[in-house]
Amino acid sequence: MYRNFSVVPKVMFGRGCFDQLDGILEERRSDETSHMVFILDDVFQGKPLEGRVPLRQQDYILHINVDDEPKTRYIDELVDRIKERTPVLPDGIVGIGGGSTLDIAKAVSLMLTNPGSAADYQGWDLINNPAVYHVGIPTLSGTGAEVSRTTVLTGPEKKLGINSDYTLFDQMVLDPELIAGAPKEQWFYTGMDCYIHDVESLHGTFLNEFSRAYGEKSIELCRTVFLEEPEDKDDKLMMASLFGGMSIAYSQVGACHALSYGLSFVLGTHHGIGCCITFDYLEDIYPQGVEEYRRMMEKHGIVLPRNLTGALSDSQFDTMVKVALGLVPLWENCFGPDWRKIMTYDRVMELYKRM
Ligand code: NAD
Ligand code: ZN
Repeated sequence: MYRNFSVVPKVMFGRGCFDQLDGILEERRSDETSHMVFILDDVFQGKPLEGRVPLRQQDYILHINVDDEPKTRYIDELVDRIKERTPVLPDGIVGIGGGSTLDIAKAVSLMLTNPGSAADYQGWDLINNPAVYHVGIPTLSGTGAEVSRTTVLTGPEKKLGINSDYTLFDQMVLDPELIAGAPKEQWFYTGMDCYIHDVESLHGTFLNEFSRAYGEKSIELCRTVFLEEPEDKDDKLMMASLFGGMSIAYSQVGACHALSYGLSFVLGTHHGIGCCITFDYLEDIYPQGVEEYRRMMEKHGIVLPRNLTGALSDSQFDTMVKVALGLVPLWENCFGPDWRKIMTYDRVMELYKRM
């Protein structure tokens, strides 16, 4: 069966296009009680970007913190805060930040119109009601969260996205100037998330011409950005992220993402750095990709943390391995239907013990 999937219907791209946000939102404002909620990463609190948020009428900024990756509990709390503030639903939610903030904006817009806790909807197509209109404006590039139909959340029982067509943004605003100020390491880790999406998609058994077309362009852009550092590297990385997201939308990620989920579940390791740590141990699976990745790391003087798992108990190791092996479609994409013969419990354990 071929999947029939939605994409983000409206896209604006270009340096300085953030300044057109007011015009984009204007079309969505209903009447004088109307308001927009801007979900802004608190890293921008008091920074020039905050002053450029086009507040009108009863609009307000909700500063959010992403020191921890988004949790369902945090989403529920933010939704309560929005509902307590006014009885009328906002006309729109605008997320401005990295992948975590974009995911929070998606989840909040869904949970404003769907009853219960965000944890009730972790899974595939469990959402019944359309979300509040929502806009995504990335300030880091690589995750592809701007274009994906998921919002990755950690709940009381599992780390799993709310995957649905309603999750997709109604609009994305891609302004390369917004990613220019990111700290070098974070820029690299999030950018490598994209590079790894491409490698895993292009080397997967689920590959098809749709995913290849996007993946090949994305990886070419990543090579230029991270090995040549051209003047317009921010524009290029922004497009690489978008295309990488489109590539995996119709294929799947692979071994590195499966293993990084285990790390993240047990140690709370963030997505970008978790993928970077893991990828460095996968030269047997992705030899060319890992070799090129190491050149990129060297060029940017990136030193990865080591000995992360040294102090873990046997039961923590066991959990880590089981979380990783539970991601069946990722392994299937990587090795085909007989993946269990290749990626055994002992092999995953051995990989984690080295990390
Ligand atoms: P992030 O959003 O977690 O942010 C990382 C850090 O960078 C934070 O401290 C943040 O405050 C800071 N930051 C963001 N933009 C900045 C800027 N311009 N200048 C300075 N600091 C800035 O990082 P990320 O790597 O973009 O996103 C990772 C998250 O994305 C994870 O929660 C992961 O689960 C999620 N993710 C989602 C998808 C999806 O399809 N929905 C895909 C991959 C990853
Ligand atoms: Zn990723």
